[in-house]
Formats: sequence, structure tokens, C-alpha cells
Amino acid sequence: MDYVGNIIRPPSEAHSMIIQVTVGCSHNQCTFCGAYKGRDFCVKDIKTIKADIDEASSWGVPFTKAFLADGDALILPTTDLLDIIGYIRAKNPRITRIGVYANTKAIAKKTPDELKELRGAGLGIAYQGIESGNREVLRRVKKGAFPHKQKETAEKIMDAGILLSQTVLLGIGGVELSREHAIDTGKHLGDMSPDYASALTVMLLPNTGLYRDYQSGKFRLPDKFGLLEELRLMIEHMEVKRPCFFTSNHASNYLPIRAHFPEDREAVLKAMDRIIKRKDDNSLRPEYMRAL
Ligand code: SF4
Repeated sequence: MDYVGNIIRPPSEAHSMIIQVTVGCSHNQCTFCGAYKGRDFCVKDIKTIKADIDEASSWGVPFTKAFLADGDALILPTTDLLDIIGYIRAKNPRITRIGVYANTKAIAKKTPDELKELRGAGLGIAYQGIESGNREVLRRVKKGAFPHKQKETAEKIMDAGILLSQTVLLGIGGVELSREHAIDTGKHLGDMSPDYASALTVMLLPNTGLYRDYQSGKFRLPDKFGLLEELRLMIEHMEVKRPCFFTSNHASNYLPIRAHFPEDREAVLKAMDRIIKRKDDNSLRPEYMRAL
């Protein structure tokens, strides 16, 4: 396979055929993200992409899903995406769902009709990194998208019939904006009510601007119980309008949660209250297990 650099995919795509269609991320400015630093963004040549599809299709693995990497593959022109998706499915009739990372800018560039056409071809799920619902936090981390645009694009994806999976980052507001970040992010997720929502914890990676801010003392990360209180506050304000599967079971988190909202929300809050009140370390993931 012509994989260039580290191939990053959502945990739920662990068993998917992974086809790299772009290298890096067209935005590549988020201060917390070290995934593609130092790597120029480019779209891979269609011949190379198809050769990878041929190779992966020859392995005899009964794939039912495929994932298009890297950081925001939805940025590709729709005709190219349709060509790639069509080729994957023609070679692998069992594949019924194609997934893709989709940043807000990439979704905004697509028309509703283009998204519906992609859905019809097999694009079944889009993963959108939201990080925060707080405008100031998003400005500081250079996310390149603010809450109103995130909501507009989230609706576009769901209106096209594509499943939407969103991620937010605990700790990204630092100690300074922890409370505002938690409340605004909870409200924002409730307002958008994606099919799936996941909370990850920000990791301080040495090749990022956020790490430099941390070293200089400009950014302070909440401690583990501070992060837990942030998560609790976020969930308290997350009033979904339709069913949402919420997880915080990513390896970066101290407290793994898997819950269906709205029905499990009160039980989750009560369980979290018990842990926070007792400062119950035993319920949290040990530090050595948080290595990614
Ligand atoms: S948009 Fe996503 S992949 Fe690109 S820099 Fe930001 S977090 Fe990283």
C-alpha cells in the first residue's frame, strides 16, 4: 500500500479497508494537533489510489466498511470521491459503508445535492472534529470554524442522510476557560444532536503550538478531576433533540463512558457525582494506560 506518513483513523474504523486519498490535512493549523505537522497537504494521484484499492481488495479480507484517509478527505472534488467510492464498491460488493473525516470547511464547500449524491454512492458516515462549542476556545486553537458554521454543516450532513460522528476535546480551554468550554460544548452538542458524540482528552504533543504554550505557562491543563468536572458539566448541558450515542472511552480519557442519550444521561451524571465527590481514583483509568 502506498501509505504516506502515519495513517490516522477513528477507532470505529479499526476493521475497515483504509484507503489514503489525501496526505495530511488541508487546514493543518489547529494548535493542539500534531498529526500532520511538517507535512504538506496533497491529493493523491487517482492511479495510486486505485492501485491501493486493487491491492487491499486482493487480500481476501471480507471488508464491510472502508475509510478514506487522511485528515479531511471530504475536501476532494465530488467527482473524484464518487469515482473512488464506486471503484471500492465495485471491487468489494460487501462494502456498504464508506467513512471519511470531514472538517467544517470541507463540508461547507459541498452542496446539499452533492452530499446526497455521495450518500447514494455509499458515503455512510462523516467524522467531524468540533473540539469546543466556545467561540473563544475555537479562536485560540485556530480551529478555522466557529459554532454557527459547525452547526450549519452538521445539519447538512445529517439532512443528506449521512451519519454524523462528532468529537470534542476535554481540557482544550485550559484551566482558564474550562467552565465556559464545558457548558458551551454541552449546549452545542445538544443543539446539533449528532448520531454519535465522543469526548477525547487533549494530549500535549511536543510538535504543537499548544505544547509550547504549556511549556511557557500560557496554557494550563486541568488536572484529572478538573477534566472530570468538565466532562460532567458538558453532559449536564447536553440536551439532545434525538438519540445520540455518547462515548468517552478513548484511550486519552480518565473515565470511559458509553451511553445512549437522552435516556442514560441522569444515571451517568449520578455516577460521575459519586466519583467526583469521593475523588475516587480507582474508577479512573491509570495514567500508564493513557498512552496513545
Ligand atoms: S482540522 Fe483536524 S486534522 Fe486538520 S489540523 Fe485540525 S485537528 Fe488536525
